[in-house]
Amino acid sequence: MKVPFLDLKPQHQTIRAEVLAALAETYDHTRFCLGRDVEDFEKAFSAALGHTRTLGMNSGTSSLHIASICGGFGPGDEVITTPFTFASSCWGISYVGAKPVFVDIDPDTWCLSPEAIARAITPKTKGVVLVHLFGQPARMDEIMALAKQHNLFVIEDCAQAVGATYKGAPVGSIGDCGTFSFYPTKNLGACGEGGAFVSKHAAVMDKAQLLRVHGSPKRYQHTEVGFNFRMDGFQGAVLGIKLRNLAKWTARRRAIAARYRAGIKRPDVQLPVMLAYGESVWHQFTLLHPKRDALRVHLEKAGVGTEIIYPGPMHQQLCYAALGYRPGSLPVTESTSARCVSLPIFPELTDAQVDHVIKAVNAFKFP
Ligand SMILES: *Cc1c(COP(=O)(O)O)cnc(C)c1O
Repeated sequence: MKVPFLDLKPQHQTIRAEVLAALAETYDHTRFCLGRDVEDFEKAFSAALGHTRTLGMNSGTSSLHIASICGGFGPGDEVITTPFTFASSCWGISYVGAKPVFVDIDPDTWCLSPEAIARAITPKTKGVVLVHLFGQPARMDEIMALAKQHNLFVIEDCAQAVGATYKGAPVGSIGDCGTFSFYPTKNLGACGEGGAFVSKHAAVMDKAQLLRVHGSPKRYQHTEVGFNFRMDGFQGAVLGIKLRNLAKWTARRRAIAARYRAGIKRPDVQLPVMLAYGESVWHQFTLLHPKRDALRVHLEKAGVGTEIIYPGPMHQQLCYAALGYRPGSLPVTESTSARCVSLPIFPELTDAQVDHVIKAVNAFKFP
């Protein structure tokens, strides 16, 4: 039996006719940039997930860029963030000339550790960019308490956590703003690039909306130096259709995660820790094993695709060499990164495929 790490085709086949009809409508009405498809999607996204307002963007990275501007970050400022994430979580900090300060993650959630944040705060600290990694919400109460105490602007990178909740609140609504990515491999994926920006502050939303289209409150008037970060009409149309299926797809991800958790029985495997305070949307199902590379080879032979997410933490990337982190400086991140392996988890996997993966993991032997 073959179990690919990820296959986008089956999901896209199930909604093919509906999506192609919607794209044809967009083609005919010709509102290709923002426009009514994007407006409809923004409203539906807010309603479905519990945000007051949503801005459709052209990527998660653009949303993070705007978030850093809204936070007022700039040269001389420090912004605390996680090294165990996709690169663009910290790009926004660098784009505005601020300094990313990488601190260690929690050994159980693999998200930014509030204790590590507390230790890294200096008079120069302006904000925090946290990531709800693999779909698991970070420890928001502790992070928000620190933010209040030290007047920090908190950005939630929700690229992997669309639909996840923390104590019942949707991720992205707890900090000062939240950013989403609709890259095709995300839980809610466009047929191309896409992202979203949310904030509980009306003033932050207004500013982000202005920056999204050339800092322009009115055509040919520019009150700020802005960007072209508009979402495409075609992507809005696709995302509107996919959003209506998201709850069902998330439920299936949760069922697969539960099946893995019940079936994988080995003392040498660390399974993802279930969090009492929130609900994960299982963007990844990742486990830790001391012989991760051998386990991957074994699974490959059994027809099971896996990925290492992420093999190189951001504090050890060449682009941040000047920050001067040494091996061992962020030990939890480094040891997690050296032991992690992600299993297939996408809604269209069958129970038989999931059981095949479980059997293969349980059958792994090493000297
Ligand atoms: C995918 C991802 C992004 C980037 O989003 P794009 O839409 O590809 O720009 C940012 N942060 C995290 C954690 C991601 O997984």
